[in-house]
Amino acid sequence: MSEPHVYLLHFAQRYHHARHYVGVALDGDVQRRLAEHLAGQGSPLVRAVVAAGIAVHLVLDVPGDRGLERRWHNTHGHGAALCPRCRSQRSSNLLQLRLPIRTRRAGRRPSTLLWRLAA
Ligand SMILES: [Zn+2]
Repeated sequence: MSEPHVYLLHFAQRYHHARHYVGVALDGDVQRRLAEHLAGQGSPLVRAVVAAGIAVHLVLDVPGDRGLERRWHNTHGHGAALCPRCRSQRSSNLLQLRLPIRTRRAGRRPSTLLWRLAA
């Protein structure tokens, strides 16, 4: 029996506020799970995205369980920070956003700064 896999779907266009979907294939068969999504038998969100004519791309697929799925959900942008498709576009912004972190004053916590920069 295969181990569970956690996967990240990237939508070619934003659907309302959603750009990604994080899911888990408990039997490890991400391709079969993706086929179910595309057939409208997976999550309601992905079904709506497909119905809207937006392309759905499988961009990440790694061994992991529901704990990892939860952690991915909790990353900034519900997986956007992990997405290879979004990374190149974001890296140019990050280079600019990182400058204030290097010059941060004592007493400021990086997590607070990151939140402010991301807001
Ligand atoms: Zn993405």
